[in-house]
Amino acid sequence: MSNQGLQQLQDLRMYIGGRWVESTGAKRFEARSPATGRTIGTLPEGTREDAQRAIDAAQKGKAILAKMSTWDRSKICARVADVLEGRKEELARLLTLEQGKPYHTEARAEVESTIEGWRDAAEHVKWLETSVIPVQDRHKRVITIRQPRGVYAVVTPWNFPLNIPTEYLAPGLAAGNAIVWVPAPTTSAVAVKLVECLEEAEVPAGAVNLVIGPGPVVGDEIVAHPGTDAVGFTGSSATGEHIARRAAGKPLLLELGGNGPTLILDDADLERAAQATAFGAFFNAGQVCSAAERILVHRRVYQEIADRLVERAKQIHLGDPFDAGTQMGPLNNQPVALKTDRHIADALTRGARVRTGGARAVGLATDLYYQPTVLTEVTRDSLINREETFGPVAPLAPFDSDEEALEWANDNTLGLVSAVFTRSLSRAHFFAERLRTGIVNVNDSTNYWELHIPFGGVAGKRSGIGRLGGKHTLMEMTDLRTVCFDVRS
Ligand code: NAD
Repeated sequence: MSNQGLQQLQDLRMYIGGRWVESTGAKRFEARSPATGRTIGTLPEGTREDAQRAIDAAQKGKAILAKMSTWDRSKICARVADVLEGRKEELARLLTLEQGKPYHTEARAEVESTIEGWRDAAEHVKWLETSVIPVQDRHKRVITIRQPRGVYAVVTPWNFPLNIPTEYLAPGLAAGNAIVWVPAPTTSAVAVKLVECLEEAEVPAGAVNLVIGPGPVVGDEIVAHPGTDAVGFTGSSATGEHIARRAAGKPLLLELGGNGPTLILDDADLERAAQATAFGAFFNAGQVCSAAERILVHRRVYQEIADRLVERAKQIHLGDPFDAGTQMGPLNNQPVALKTDRHIADALTRGARVRTGGARAVGLATDLYYQPTVLTEVTRDSLINREETFGPVAPLAPFDSDEEALEWANDNTLGLVSAVFTRSLSRAHFFAERLRTGIVNVNDSTNYWELHIPFGGVAGKRSGIGRLGGKHTLMEMTDLRTVCFDVRS
């Protein structure tokens, strides 16, 4: 286990108004590694008063940002990317230690994608053109401009603790918003390191403020407080819906849970389907909103897909996330491991079979290491089919017709990402137009995604509101203002 270079974690603080501060409550909590079970450092437990201080600081930061040009803000984002570049090994190591994802195969890639996120924002904001609108009245000239919304409350989860915050912080700042950010408590140490990079890049005081502590306290305060103008939230559907009520009337960008249906048709390239679906189910130990959470397979190819997935799951090396050979590390926390236990147990009582895995691994540093699991004969009424699991489980069920597969896939409260494997263009289109998810991946895993493509839930389901990604986030995090000039002399 390597935590080389991470000895300075004892006095981590919050960042408010350009200063590193303790909590007004004077309490601290431990950051504990899911990989080792050991304490990494301690963090301040913020209070509502701390959140209010951060909102006040953001009001001042907003005024500073308003005096800057778009190009100035673009340069700040590019500088953040440069600083991150210089500290990427340190960030990746802490990410592995605190989140649990494998250092070589996943943590370094998340840091690279974080750097790209800051560079993307620096670029995209320069091309955020608006319009001149022809109108009936010959005396009028009508234009639109994009304005920052003001102070953004941003609350983020622990599964991609550098990349997801960047999806809001970088475009939010580029567009001129000041931000109060509450990260997930189990990945707050790495959040501190990200903010250190922002400070080093000379992000103006108050432009980004970090408040650490329990979501229902500090997160609640920043989303509900009248001093924040808009909310960006990534997390579970239940919390997202609660936040939507608490922040009623504010613009919301909500990226919530998924239950990714993966449909493998009888004409699919089976090797491709098995490889991509294994990645969909097991990447980041399944702790991905777009994970392959329900794998529906045409009965004609069902056994073969099940066998191939079992083979792939058995090949995954589960263990110390710092080892070069490790492909899967521990789950991040006990609640997600308990949910995985519960979903597997429920599936078994309803008739599913464990083909491989099915339990936590024994003999490793903590009990958060979960065996890559393949279940077959999963029934439609089981929790694993109906709800998001967020663990390393590939649950399979057979279907007999395209219509049945479509109906089953859409019979769910969630609608984030789906995947379809087929060689037929017309069958691909049939599903692409009818699946009730915000993203449909044809012949690739539910996890295929790039930073700048629109990402978000379909209307009418519980997977969120709005679209993240490149210019789409910039549009979400700005107000479109219409300016009408009367030009008669
Ligand atoms: P969570 O909803 O439990 O917590 C998310 C964040 O909200 C945390 O920072 C938490 O402290 C905070 N929070 C909790 N209660 C709050 C409250 N009452 N008010 C304000 N903030 C509160 O989710 P999680 O377990 O951290 O993350 C996993 C979930 O995130 C999964 O459902 C996953 O699908 C979803 N997710 C979605 C996307 C996406 O882009 N759609 C991406 C990643 C994760």
